[in-house]
Amino acid sequence: MICCASPKFKLEEELGHTEGVDWDLGKCLTCGAYLLRQWSVYAPDRIFYDKLSDDEANTFLKSEGVKRKSLLKQWYEDN
Ligand SMILES: [Zn+2]
Repeated sequence: MICCASPKFKLEEELGHTEGVDWDLGKCLTCGAYLLRQWSVYAPDRIFYDKLSDDEANTFLKSEGVKRKSLLKQWYEDN
C-alpha cells in the first residue's frame, strides 16, 4: 500500500540489504508520509513502496545492525 498514486520518494536513510532486497526509508514529498522502498539490483525496474506510520518509521530509524535486519526480515515476511 502506498500513500499517493505517484509518490515522490525522498531518501532519508538507507536501511541496508537483506532478504535479497535493498531497503530505503524515505518520505513522500507529495503528502509527507513515511515510505519504505524495496528494490533489487536484479530487477531494478521493480520498485515497491510501503507506507509507514510514524511509529514504524521511527522504529526502523532507531534500530541498527542485527536488530534492523530482523525488523526488515519481519516486514518482508508480513507484507
Ligand atoms: Zn504521498
